[in-house]
Amino acid sequence: MSKVVLITGASRGIGRATARLLGAGGWTVGVNYAHNEAAAQEVAAEVGRAGGHARVIHGDVANEADVDAMFDTLEKAFGRIDALVNNAGIVAPSLPLADMSAERLRRMFDVNVYGAYLCAREAARRMSKDRGGDGGAIVNVSSAAARLGSPNEYVDYAGSKGAVDTMTIGLAKELGPQGVRVNAVRPGLIDTDIHASGGRPDRAAVLGAQTPLGRPGTAEEVAEAIVWLLSDAASYVTGALLDVSAGR
Ligand code: NAP
Repeated sequence: MSKVVLITGASRGIGRATARLLGAGGWTVGVNYAHNEAAAQEVAAEVGRAGGHARVIHGDVANEADVDAMFDTLEKAFGRIDALVNNAGIVAPSLPLADMSAERLRRMFDVNVYGAYLCAREAARRMSKDRGGDGGAIVNVSSAAARLGSPNEYVDYAGSKGAVDTMTIGLAKELGPQGVRVNAVRPGLIDTDIHASGGRPDRAAVLGAQTPLGRPGTAEEVAEAIVWLLSDAASYVTGALLDVSAGR
C-alpha cells in the first residue's frame, strides 16, 4: 500500500524536490500551495511521472480552517495519512529588528510558527495510535538560522525557526509513545526562490561560497535528508535536528 504524505509549500523549492523524490519512492503526495496553482499542478504531474500519486491541495497554513480542510481532503481522497512535511515558510527583506513593522513580525510568526504548529497538531490528531491512527512521521523544515540568529537580516525569521526546533523536541517526546517520530532538518543556504522573495536573489550563491563546502546547496540535497527521516531507515531517530548546511 502506498504511503500518504502531506507536504506544505510543495509548489516550489525544497517542498517540490521532496514531492518528486517521494513520488519516485511510490508515495502518494498531497501537494499544498498557497498562491501558485500552476506550479503545484506541475509538481503533481512530476510526482506522477516519477511513479507516485499526487493531489494538489490549496491552503494557507496560517489559517486554521484551511489546515483542517487540507488534511480532510487528503484523508478523504486516500483513506489515510502517514506523514507530514511541515515545509511552508517565508522570509522578508533584510532589516534590523528596530526597523521591522508589527505587520511583518505578525505574518512571519503566523506562517512559520502558528502554521507549523497547526499542521503538526492536525498530524498528531490523525496519526496518534491512542486517537485511532497508525503512527507515522513528521519532518519539520527549520533553518540553520535558528542557531545563527540572522543579525541585521531577519532575527524574526531566525526566532520563528527556533520555535520550530523547540516544537520538534517537545513533540517527539509527546508522540514517541503514539508511534509518531518527529524530526527537523535545518537547511543552510539553499538555491531556491525564497531569497528573491526576501529581496536578495543572489544571497545563496554569495553566502554559500563562504561555507566550508564552498557552494550553495540544492533543494534536492535537502529533500534527500527529509526523505531519509521519513523512511523506515530512520526508525530509531526522533527529536533530531539535522543540519543540512555545509558546515555553516
Ligand atoms: P520557496 O522556494 O520560497 O517556496 C516556498 C513554498 O511555501 C512555496 O511552495 C509557497 O507556495 C509555500 N508557502 C508560502 N507561504 C505559504 C503559506 N502561508 N501556506 C502554504 N504554503 C505557503 O522556499 P524554500 O526555500 O523551498 O523554503 C522551504 C522551507 O525551507 C521554508 O520553511 C524555509 O524557511 C526553509 N529554509 C529554506 C532555506 C533556503 O536557503 N532556501 C534555508 C533554510 C530553511 P506558493 O508557490 O503558492 O507561493
